[in-house]
Amino acid sequence: MRTINHWINGRTVDREPERTGPVYDPATGQQAAQVAYATGDDVDAAVRAAQAAYPAWRDTSVVKRARVMFAFLALLQRHRQELAEIIASEHGKVVPDAAGEVQRGMEVVEVACGIPHLLKGDYSENVSTEIDLYSIRQPLGVAAGITPFNFPIMVPMWMHPIAIACGNSFVLKPSERDPSVSTRVAELYAEAGLPDGVFNVVHGDKTAVDAVLDHPGISAVSFVGSTPIARYVYERGTTHGKRVQALGGAKNHAVVMPDADMDSAADALVSAAYGSTGQRCMAISTAVAVGRAGDALVDKVVERASRLRTGPAGDPSSEMGPLVTGAARDKVAGLIETGVHEGAKLVLDGRDLRVEGHEDGFFLGPSLFDEVTTDMTIYKEEIFGPVLIVLRAADIDEAIRMVSDNPYGNGTAIFTSNGAAGRKFQNEVQAGMIGVNIPIPVPMAFYSFGGWKQSLFGDLHVHGPEGVAFYTRGKVVTSRWPVPRDSAVELGFPTSR
Ligand code: NAD
Repeated sequence: MRTINHWINGRTVDREPERTGPVYDPATGQQAAQVAYATGDDVDAAVRAAQAAYPAWRDTSVVKRARVMFAFLALLQRHRQELAEIIASEHGKVVPDAAGEVQRGMEVVEVACGIPHLLKGDYSENVSTEIDLYSIRQPLGVAAGITPFNFPIMVPMWMHPIAIACGNSFVLKPSERDPSVSTRVAELYAEAGLPDGVFNVVHGDKTAVDAVLDHPGISAVSFVGSTPIARYVYERGTTHGKRVQALGGAKNHAVVMPDADMDSAADALVSAAYGSTGQRCMAISTAVAVGRAGDALVDKVVERASRLRTGPAGDPSSEMGPLVTGAARDKVAGLIETGVHEGAKLVLDGRDLRVEGHEDGFFLGPSLFDEVTTDMTIYKEEIFGPVLIVLRAADIDEAIRMVSDNPYGNGTAIFTSNGAAGRKFQNEVQAGMIGVNIPIPVPMAFYSFGGWKQSLFGDLHVHGPEGVAFYTRGKVVTSRWPVPRDSAVELGFPTSR
């Protein structure tokens, strides 16, 4: 059985791990590898390597740090297909979808290549006579990332390229469910010329996460995952004096106005609800049909969703792959049962799907519920599978209220042909990322990504300008040259002169 081990100080750890966990091929349901689960000592070894590498990396010129990012980017471009195939083999998403994830991760590296611009400070000459004032941003030390299974390369890349380009060293604790691609990324960093110890990977579960949160050598933690764990990570990390940004779960609503182009809205909903088998934090899991939009929309979604081809990631004709694990499949199937039990109308049922030759794979077909109400479990819980639910609203005000009252606030979208409705929606709705006729409004890497309410604990979003702010500390310098010869003791509070 292949063992996926930690990457510490520029190489794979060759010691047999004390603890391991299984990694599955979701298409067959069989265990494909085992992954090391870090102990506190393993995490400590990674942090020590990162601490040792930090001073020299911090003092490496910003231009040289950017050049490592350019080399890393070129390697990612060269290995894009291989990386996508590694992701598909452990996550289960189809290869073109995985390649899209690699691309969106690379776009953060492109931004990190411009770090000399992003780290520029301000300078004011003569704020007082012969006194200048300037601001600089300095790295924090060792930063850590704890990431979910659903984007095993892109979500870590929201973090480490920016953190490292800013001059920090980094310890990544990726999801234990699809860990291999993180080790491959570490190899590519080494090939790009990143010094040993600047980027480290420790695999594992709660033990590893707790060791990261408690370690005094780590200054900042970025987390992405489900809301209960995000809250836990935020509280435990900040208790230990760390800077923490913790992105949580989501229940993204798409509001469909009666004046929307229904074919285009249905295409968008099906793509955003069932892409990656619904396992995207920006998936549209909830449609709010306004006025007479409802019946036409449901018919068009059913027509499209029932034609989707569900199959293994390795089959080029598959559009939707399996869920990541048997437990994930069973949880989603259980929530579908709950929806039926609570009185929602199951218009399309994906539970009976059989994929020939892959009977033990973790598959579910697309499901669609209509006549869902806000008190139902399938509305309140994040399902994180190929299930779209439809609610009805009388008008745009009721629809906006519904989105804003939901405890999550990651992304939301409106479909309309009325510019005023689009503007009202983006102005009033309580969520962090808004799409107008765009179903998955994931900002480009030169903007920042993040939700509101229970979709984010902390203040700063990831990547873009807020990512740079998160991984650096501001310093302001007030400097006088030449030293005055006519100085005198003066106890009054200094003011400009
Ligand atoms: P998860 O919360 O189960 O796991 C995330 C990370 O936390 C993993 O590294 C895991 O090892 C660790 N972890 C799990 N249980 C833990 C515990 N009890 N104590 C300490 N650490 C623990 O999430 P997941 O299932 O891997 O990913 C799916 C979730 O992530 C969904 O809720 C999805 O919405 C969310 N997500 C959010 C965003 C966003 O941008 N807001 C992006 C991607 C995924």
